[in-house]
Amino acid sequence: MCIACRSRYPQHTLIRLKQEGNDVIAYNGYGRSFYLCDICIKNEKKVKGLTKRFKLDEERFVKLLMELSQQVGSCDTSHSNEGVNQ
Ligand SMILES: [Zn+2]
Repeated sequence: MCIACRSRYPQHTLIRLKQEGNDVIAYNGYGRSFYLCDICIKNEKKVKGLTKRFKLDEERFVKLLMELSQQVGSCDTSHSNEGVNQ
């Protein structure tokens, strides 16, 4: 479940993160994790809300999300044409 919109999505389409101290990083296999969907990470308002909630540096958090979203997209080529005009 995405923590920003509380919608349920297949797990492989979600981005998995974890909070570590005062920071949020990519999930690295241990600790408490949470998920964000690729719709919310592209939603400026949702991202802003999350940066406030976790007291993060917005620019860095956005960069992390973009990197992770590219990784998610690259493992799922079967749906790569959805919503993409190429
Ligand atoms: Zn979401």
